[in-house]
Amino acid sequence: MMFACDRCGICCQHIDLIPQLKEFDSGNGRCVHLSENNLCEIYLDRPDICNVERMYELFFKGNISEEEYVRQNKMGCSELKNKYHNN
Ligand code: SF4
Ligand code: SF4
Repeated sequence: MMFACDRCGICCQHIDLIPQLKEFDSGNGRCVHLSENNLCEIYLDRPDICNVERMYELFFKGNISEEEYVRQNKMGCSELKNKYHNN
C-alpha cells in the first residue's frame, strides 16, 4: 500500500476522540505508547485502528479501491496537520 506516513505524530497526540484508544489516552489526548521522537513503542502490536493496511483489509476492501482509501487517509492527515499546526 502506498500510504506514506511522515511520522509527524499528530494522530497519536490526539486520540481522545477515538473510542478504541480510550485506554491509551494519557489524559491530554496523547497516546501512552508514543515515544518522545513520535514513534509508536508497540508498533508491531498496535491496535487495528492504528494500522492503515489492516483497517483496509478488515473494513474497506471490496467497498473502495486501495487508491481511494489511501487518498482518504492522506486527506485525514492533512486535516489533522492543518488543525493542530495552526494552533
Ligand atoms: S497524522 Fe498522518 S502522517 Fe502524521 S503520524 Fe499520523 S498517520 Fe502519519
Ligand atoms: S498505539 Fe501506537 S500508533 Fe496507536 S495511537 Fe498509540 S502510539 Fe499511535
